[in-house]
Amino acid sequence: MAIRYIDEIEDLREKKVFMRVDFNVPLDENQNITEDTRIRAVLPTINYALDFNAKVILASHLGRPKGERKPKYSMAPAAKRLSRLLGKEVTLAPDCIGDDVEKIINAMKPGDVVMLENLRFYPGEEKNDENFARALADNCDIYVNDAFAVSHRAHASVEAITKFFPDVVAGFLMKNEMNYFEKAMKNPIRPLVAILGGAKVSGKLEVLENLCTKVDKIIIGGGMAFTFLKALGYNVGKSLVEEDLIETARKTYNKARENGIKFYLPVDCVVADQFNPEAETKVTTIQEIPEGWMALDIGPATVTLFAEALQNAKTIIWNGPMGVFEMDAFSRGTFAMVSAVANSYALTIVGGGDTDVAVHRAGEYAKISYISTGGGAFLELLEGKKLPGIKVLEENGTK
Ligand code: AMP
Repeated sequence: MAIRYIDEIEDLREKKVFMRVDFNVPLDENQNITEDTRIRAVLPTINYALDFNAKVILASHLGRPKGERKPKYSMAPAAKRLSRLLGKEVTLAPDCIGDDVEKIINAMKPGDVVMLENLRFYPGEEKNDENFARALADNCDIYVNDAFAVSHRAHASVEAITKFFPDVVAGFLMKNEMNYFEKAMKNPIRPLVAILGGAKVSGKLEVLENLCTKVDKIIIGGGMAFTFLKALGYNVGKSLVEEDLIETARKTYNKARENGIKFYLPVDCVVADQFNPEAETKVTTIQEIPEGWMALDIGPATVTLFAEALQNAKTIIWNGPMGVFEMDAFSRGTFAMVSAVANSYALTIVGGGDTDVAVHRAGEYAKISYISTGGGAFLELLEGKKLPGIKVLEENGTK
């Protein structure tokens, strides 16, 4: 069954629309929002509902209050920012369920927007509790999920809640995410190239396994490359290696080769004598990593090699930085790859918090076809998994 989207609802006019969004935005010590992409990403769906004079009730989590009401995790900053972006008042409810919320919702006029307080102030949210889900749903007519970044979580506002609505649909952010994912993984224009980086192989084994059946080329950078290089017999000094995964890495590498996938690993790297921004550094080939040094970025020859491998790509998916890009000395490889991806002639899809940050810092985001708002959710899609939040939309969408 296919997901239904908000623009397929016959009559949205003046309806009470419960919208699960992901306003889990980063805040500084003074509770100021430092980055509001997640709020901006949902504006098309909110505005669409407002165009029909719907009453929009927004629900989100923020941070990890772990089932307790902790003021520092209040949705207040998000409500305030949303109000500015929409250019209209957004009422912050004192809670997300209960009598006060009911009163506020019942008093809403067509075109009003209410932001519920943090869903994770209640343990029932993360426990997918049906009673909590029913209480959330109680006052509303239509359910819209536009929180792709939490759709891999079977939480009450994502999964259980869908049972209590006759109309269950997704928003436009979700539509974009699903459309781009399908373009990349279901019907890709080939060659399809996957770039994987980040710290460890362990978090990305299932992604690799799934990609090995789908892509034409795999490019591996970041810390995870060194478990592969060790598996191939290189001495990688003190670089990040997951000893218990060396055999798995070798098998994955061989399987990819058997499937005819071109498998690219770094040929040189930036090594450091310690994990520190002030460390002594030098560029060496993979064959010559000095004993006791650690590789913290890909080197210039690798950048050339990887960029060359991207030349004929028609679709590129990327998750994970090429090095410890948070430290200036080890950021060149990641930024060079951002540039190579941004200037390629391919459909480019980037996902995962760190990669997103790197693309923004490099100022190249406008040249990327799509930047996913999901970290874990994006990775689980790449693993070939059905996300619980998407599964319920498919199953219940056409009730
Ligand atoms: P992940 O969450 O697995 O995508 O990992 C992202 C993290 O990997 C970033 O914080 C990087 O600093 C780190 N990282 C990337 N390359 C390396 C490396 N060569 N050694 C250690 N950590 C790395």
